[in-house]
Amino acid sequence: MAEVIDIDQEYENGDKDSDDSEPSNKKPRITKKRVDQRYKTEWERESDFNEWLRKGTVQTGQNSGYLAHCLYCKKDFVCKKGKHDAKRHKQTKAHEENKKAWITSSSKTMPLSLHFSGDSKIERVATVEAKLVTFLVEHDLPYSLSEDLLKLVKSMPGPDLLSQTTLGRTKATNIARQALAPHFHEKLLESLKTNLFSIVIEETTDSSVAKQLAVCVSFCDKAMNVQVDLLALVECSDGSVSGLFNQLVKVRDDVKKAGVPL
Ligand SMILES: [Zn+2]
Repeated sequence: MAEVIDIDQEYENGDKDSDDSEPSNKKPRITKKRVDQRYKTEWERESDFNEWLRKGTVQTGQNSGYLAHCLYCKKDFVCKKGKHDAKRHKQTKAHEENKKAWITSSSKTMPLSLHFSGDSKIERVATVEAKLVTFLVEHDLPYSLSEDLLKLVKSMPGPDLLSQTTLGRTKATNIARQALAPHFHEKLLESLKTNLFSIVIEETTDSSVAKQLAVCVSFCDKAMNVQVDLLALVECSDGSVSGLFNQLVKVRDDVKKAGVPL
């Protein structure tokens, strides 16, 4: 169980109201009874708190509902005076030191439950983020893919269309081979009709030990970006110079037929 700090105890020295030390022979003043403030997840959206403040981890006992959790100090604290208490916690020496330690520590671990604040919208966003990261980890994909993956997800149509979409392994292969490949090949040939290009060849052996000749083209497009694209990948049983040459001539003839000036 996380340790609970009583914020008033933390301020025992030097943070009391000056009235407390005045003589007691003064007229008693009528003081308003303060209503305790329950923890509100909306505080977490404020720039003062979003990096470190979360709902208290201890949810039982007399302070349940009045506890906030500090990610830097890894502790719950009572915040019955609401944001005022959170701000006071932020100003404590211990918090400042724990913050420095947190920033310099190599392992900024925090329990997954603390990513989920209880606010339904923040929680749903955190769930989406967690699902995307889980996908990357599960499929051994690089974290550098995360931004592109998110862009892809955002570009997707609504749940109506997605619920009707089916995509098994065979279908995905067929879409790549029979729809996407011809489409992009056609686009490449169009570019080659209007841009000067050079040819790069590379011989490779695939997993079934078949020799293949990759024919790539390199050109500068209209936006002055250098593009390198695969023009053809042909199987070639004869890996000799004349064998490679014959394959290359075949590729050249195909390109010529498609109307690319050579
Ligand atoms: Zn703290």
